[in-house]
Amino acid sequence: MDAAGETADRSRPVVLITEDNEKNRKLVRELLGSRGIPYLEAATGAAALTVAAEARPDVVLMDIHLPDMEGTEALAQLRDDARTTHIPVIAVTALAMKGDAERFLAAGFDAYIAKPIDVRTFVDAVVAMAEAGRG
Ligand code: MN
Repeated sequence: MDAAGETADRSRPVVLITEDNEKNRKLVRELLGSRGIPYLEAATGAAALTVAAEARPDVVLMDIHLPDMEGTEALAQLRDDARTTHIPVIAVTALAMKGDAERFLAAGFDAYIAKPIDVRTFVDAVVAMAEAGRG
């Protein structure tokens, strides 16, 4: 876990990156960092649940294939917890077959971003979702 959220200027949304692949996490870190956006990190679903409940990020990025649980299960647990139920959660996944986006939205994700992420639009999409909150 990164301490960025504790000292962050709350006018900028705090993003929780949930991703077990270090290379993918590094890319997202660099994209957010280059725009001065504070972030926290979790490499497992369990860590994401703990960090989200403690730090109350403004948006959660959720990988689907995590070592300990599916991202959809982590999402369900975030929704079941009064401390985190209001936080928008974006599925970020290489599952980009036809119908996958619809499936993730039906599962309760607020948005869906396909990997490999588009570095030109990624940060704006994440910030927009953080500011919009849950619909
Ligand atoms: Mn993964």
